[in-house]
Amino acid sequence: MVKISKTKHITRKGVVKRNPRKSKYNIDGMPNLPMNDRVYLLRRKVIELIYEANRLVGGLPRITVRITTKAAKHPTWMGCGVTCDKQVSIYIPAETLNEDPQTIKYVVFHEIIHTVFNFKGHKTAGLMRPIIQRGLTDFQINEMFIKEVNSIRRKN
Ligand SMILES: [Zn+2]
Repeated sequence: MVKISKTKHITRKGVVKRNPRKSKYNIDGMPNLPMNDRVYLLRRKVIELIYEANRLVGGLPRITVRITTKAAKHPTWMGCGVTCDKQVSIYIPAETLNEDPQTIKYVVFHEIIHTVFNFKGHKTAGLMRPIIQRGLTDFQINEMFIKEVNSIRRKN
């Protein structure tokens, strides 16, 4: 269970480590939006980014995408990824999808690293910062993503 925040990450990380069940509960605080034309288009945006990620690094599994409301308890979460019994799911609040394309890509690629590559931690730089880094170019985000994936694959 992971997320990106605009605010401090230490508290959130503490919560997740101390009580993983609680963090799972918090996904329930991000209810899926009922599917309609608008939500379908938002979901499509995320799926397109997953296709793009797969073109960059190859070998990504099927990923379930859920468009949700913002987590009431954690309004700063921009995305959340969960892997359960090999089923990879990415939860994106609809609000995140109003952001600029690079911000959306950062969130989706970040969650792919957490879920598909089972990377639970965060880093102080690059794509896996706990707090979103804005102002990056599309190219920079692609490069960061490829770099993270290569470094994880090298270790496995
Ligand atoms: Zn994260």
